[in-house]
Amino acid sequence: MPGIGNERVISHGMVPFPSSHEYTLKPRCFSSCGGDNSGCRFAVIDPLDHAIAYPLVLYIHSAPEFLMRIRLFCALASYSILLAFWLCGISQTEAQEYDVVILNGRVMDPETDFDEVANIGIQGGWITKITKDPISGKQTINATGHVVAAGFIDTEQHGLTDWGIKVNLRDGVTTQMDFEVGALNISQWYAKRDGKLQANFGTVVGQEFSRMRVHDGLKLEGPDVSMPFFFDFRAEAAKDGVDGWSVTRSTTEQMNKISATLDEGLREGALGVGSTIGYAQHGITTYEMLEAQRAAARYGRLTAVHHRFHPSASTPTEGPTGANEIIVNAMLLDAPLQIHHNNDYGWWEIEEKTQLAREKGYNIWSTWYPWDAGSGNAGASILAPATWETSMGYKYEETIYDPQNDKYLTKDEFLKLAKEDPGYMLVAFSPPRKEWLKEWIKLPHFVVAGDGMPTVNSKGEQLTWDSPFEDYAGHPRSSGSHAKVLRLGREANVPLMHTLSQLSYWTAKHLGDTGIKAMQVRGRMQEGKIADIVVFDPQTVKENSEYAAGKNGLPSSGLPHVLVFGQIVVSDSKVLKGVTPGQPIRFAVEEKGRFVPATKEMWLKTFTIDSGGVAPRKNAAPNLPASEDQSKLTPKQNLSEQFWWGDHQRLNDFAGYCCEYHQLQARFAAMEQRRTLSPQE
Ligand SMILES: [Zn+2]
Repeated sequence: MPGIGNERVISHGMVPFPSSHEYTLKPRCFSSCGGDNSGCRFAVIDPLDHAIAYPLVLYIHSAPEFLMRIRLFCALASYSILLAFWLCGISQTEAQEYDVVILNGRVMDPETDFDEVANIGIQGGWITKITKDPISGKQTINATGHVVAAGFIDTEQHGLTDWGIKVNLRDGVTTQMDFEVGALNISQWYAKRDGKLQANFGTVVGQEFSRMRVHDGLKLEGPDVSMPFFFDFRAEAAKDGVDGWSVTRSTTEQMNKISATLDEGLREGALGVGSTIGYAQHGITTYEMLEAQRAAARYGRLTAVHHRFHPSASTPTEGPTGANEIIVNAMLLDAPLQIHHNNDYGWWEIEEKTQLAREKGYNIWSTWYPWDAGSGNAGASILAPATWETSMGYKYEETIYDPQNDKYLTKDEFLKLAKEDPGYMLVAFSPPRKEWLKEWIKLPHFVVAGDGMPTVNSKGEQLTWDSPFEDYAGHPRSSGSHAKVLRLGREANVPLMHTLSQLSYWTAKHLGDTGIKAMQVRGRMQEGKIADIVVFDPQTVKENSEYAAGKNGLPSSGLPHVLVFGQIVVSDSKVLKGVTPGQPIRFAVEEKGRFVPATKEMWLKTFTIDSGGVAPRKNAAPNLPASEDQSKLTPKQNLSEQFWWGDHQRLNDFAGYCCEYHQLQARFAAMEQRRTLSPQE
């Protein structure tokens, strides 16, 4: 629907900062006119002032002439008195100049390195004043002894329910987005949430959902094809015994359908493409992944990826091999890339590569969460002995924790559980993470993303806004990741400015650089930026969530006040029910999509000398400009083309290169893959 997004964006996500002109003409702006009042005198008279002056003028006109002069005199005198009162009332007027003021806090801004005790004036959702002078407003927050920083920005929140948003607000997170699973039907997704959420929200368009449509036949209509309903869709996809989205390779036509769905989401304003190729490493070919990243690149937007082979520690499937694939694509396409939760084996290599890429000017970065355990269901293949024991070298009794019973499982107990209740959620410790955590808090541009899980109780039922924090049953990273990073940083003497960059600024910077205007004015404590703000005590702030049942969802402490778009949503450590200032973070809807199907003909024309004798183009992508009539480019499918692109159902590489024994092994592995749902990270 062309046009819808534009209006939304202008009215919410990207409200322009009032220009100096607009600001001068605002009612009650007297003190903002620099005191000389020039060109501003009448503009400052608000309706109340007019209501007093206007009856006086009427009275003068209706009076007999002989009284008129006297009355005119009196009227003018009265008017002067009123004017004098009005002028004397400036301090009272000024008292209401700001909607909210935050006084005497240590204001910290990583972008400008500003770090001083100051007062903040907020008006209309924006930071309009940062000053040492006394100011006042309709609402006052005393931030003495506290840090006043930009609200935290999280791109991996999969628990986007009222409860999940609430517990994250207690953790200082003012922008909660899902860049991994993402959504479909983007216009509807945003429309349903507009004006109803307590934190800012945004999404990418999901590759996994796009594959479910093609390979599992799911229709996936409506505004809720996203978290928190994601696992329902996975279950539906698996009903026929095959997770098509995960294991089925695409023909050219199917690949183009998937890319077209991604393009439609981008056209409707999605922030980029979200990929879970790590859960679909048998299904998504390298060329399909290149095409997915290209779909986003056509808009200059990011692809955010849970990459292939994550978190394998065994060559030739080491985790960084999967990262290489997406880094190379991003660099060659000159497209932004976010690598999800790079907190496992090989993180050092991936961080080195992202730093080297950034040095060359590429907008590539990664995320992490501060926990030494992940979570997964008992039936997940990663927890099976072949991976967990043989490949990773872990012992069950030291690493596999049952949160409901607050104990570690022996191998026998685990195997029994995996057989009887494969959906049972377990906490899986990764022992090396304890040491790695000490380094992660010191890495530049390594941004914090909680990877918050579905917000359910121990029976798997969704929590509501009013559900007690104790009811949440899942990984504690859903509730305490950001405060935990602040605590870890404090204990290790990491400069607070660096930690704040990991929590908000670098995410805002990298996303802003992809063209998201709403992110260019967030993550910063500066005049003229949006007032998403967290007020916290740097000495006491900490997470309270733990792995043990009943403590998974305990909210963080030491962050008493949180503002979203200039409105107080957390006051004295209480989330205010019904206050929903959350803004949509999105791109405007575009009239036309930019998708160009991949075809053999176009590839040959682009990369060989077959098109009129020109040499193969350097840096070419088999693309045509979006302005060209795409109807002419509809691929004419034929057998040879499908085969040529690599129709893997026909081109059976195992048949060509493997012995009988290995073919059987491969088939068994595929059956195994289909039998178990993919693990949750
Ligand atoms: Zn993930």
